[in-house]
Amino acid sequence: MDKKFKILTYGCQMNIAESERMAGQLSKIGYTMTEDIEAADLILINSCCVRSTAEDKIYGKIGELKKYKLQNPALIIGVMGCLAQKDGENLIKRSLHIDFVLGTARRGELPKIVESFESARKKFVDTSNVSGIVEDEIFPIRAGKVSAFVPIMYGCNNFCTYCIVPYVRGRERSRPAAEIFAEIKNAVDNGYKEINLLGQNVNSYGKDLGQENFAQLLSAVDKIDGIERLRFMTSHPKDLSDELISVMASGKNICEHIHLPVQYGSNKILKKMNRVYTVEKYLELVKKIRAAIPNISLTTDLIVGFPGETEEDFKLTLNFLREVRFDTAFTFIYSERSGTPAANFEGKVDDETKHRRLNELMTVQNKISLEKNLQFDGATVEVLVEGESKTDKNIYTGRTRSNKAVLFPHESENVGDLINVKINQVQTWIFKGVRAD
Ligand code: SF4
Repeated sequence: MDKKFKILTYGCQMNIAESERMAGQLSKIGYTMTEDIEAADLILINSCCVRSTAEDKIYGKIGELKKYKLQNPALIIGVMGCLAQKDGENLIKRSLHIDFVLGTARRGELPKIVESFESARKKFVDTSNVSGIVEDEIFPIRAGKVSAFVPIMYGCNNFCTYCIVPYVRGRERSRPAAEIFAEIKNAVDNGYKEINLLGQNVNSYGKDLGQENFAQLLSAVDKIDGIERLRFMTSHPKDLSDELISVMASGKNICEHIHLPVQYGSNKILKKMNRVYTVEKYLELVKKIRAAIPNISLTTDLIVGFPGETEEDFKLTLNFLREVRFDTAFTFIYSERSGTPAANFEGKVDDETKHRRLNELMTVQNKISLEKNLQFDGATVEVLVEGESKTDKNIYTGRTRSNKAVLFPHESENVGDLINVKINQVQTWIFKGVRAD
C-alpha cells in the first residue's frame, strides 16, 4: 500500500532543513509526501519552543489533529523538534492522540520508531541524550529547487541567558566535513545553485572535532564546482574570526551578506544576556568587515523588553542602530522561557512598554533599511530566480547576492537562472525591477 506522510514545520531554518531530512528518511521506508493532510497515514509535527507564541500555536495545531485521528484511527501522529525535547512525555499526557515523541538528538531513529509503531501500536517517548550524535540523512527531500540548506553543526555552547536552545538542542556537535561535502555534491548534482551552511553558531564549527575550523570549511566548500552562491547562518559576533573575514573577502562564490545577531545595543543588557562582547567590540567587528568587504550587507536580530531594560538602555540601542545602519534587523519582543536564567531576573518590562519600544525600534530601522535600499534605485543587480511570487504567477521573485528580495515580470526565465534585473522601485523589504539582459 502507498503510505503517505505530511510534516508540519515550525520555527527556524534549521527546523526546515531537518524536516527535509525527515522526509528523506521516511521515503526510505516506503512513504511518499502529500500536501493533503487528510490523505496522510503519518503526520509529523517538527516543533519549536523559542518563544511562547510558537508553543501556543503548536499546542493549538496538535489539538486540531485529533479530528483526523478520530476519522482514521490508523493514522500515526508524532512530535519531534525542540518542543518535543522540552515537554517530552507531557505532550502525550496532554494530548492522547499523539503516538510518539522524539527528542532532537533522536531524529536518526525516526524510520525505526515509525516501523515499530506500525507493527506494535505502542506509544513511545525518547528525549534522551540531548547532546548525542545525530545519525544524519545526507539525501534529504528538499522543499526548494534553488537553495539547499545544509546543517554543518547542531547545538550550542553559549548559554545566552534568554535562550532555550542549549537546553533543547544540547552541546555543539559538528558534522564531519566528508559528510557535508557528500551532501553538497549531491545537491549540486541535482541542480541546486545556492548552498546555505547552517548552524546555531557556525563560527564554532570544528572545535569539537579538532579538525578544520569554519573559515577553512567555507573556503573548501567555495571550491566545489557548480555552486553559484554560498551563504551561511548564524554567526555569533564573539567567534567571527579575521580568517573568516579574509576568506569571505577573497571567496569565489561566497555572497556579500552576514547575519550577525547583536541582540542589544547597551553593554549593561549585553552582559545580562551573557553575549560576551561589548557594543564597542561589535562596532570594531563591523568596521573590520566593511573595510574588507565594502559592499557587504549586514543584518541582525534584536530583542526588546529584556528584564532590567531601562529607557536609557533602549535609547542607547536606538543610537546603536543609527550608528551601524544595518540593511535589515529582525526585531523580537523578549519571551520568557522557563528554565533559562533570565526567567528569574528582576525588572520585568510591562507589555505596553515592550510593544512601544518594538514599534520605535522598527520605525528607526525601517527608515534606515529604506535609505540603504534607495542606493540601488536604477542599479542593475544579479538575481537568482526562485519562482512565482506568492500573489501573482506573472511576477517572479529572486534574490540578490546581498540577500535582498527582488520582484520582476516573468518573461522566459526559469527557476534557478541567474539573470540581471534593473531596479526601478525600492521598498523597505523588497526591490522591484525589469529584466536587463
Ligand atoms: S548563541 Fe545564544 S542565542 Fe544563539 S542559540 Fe546559542 S545560546 Fe541561543
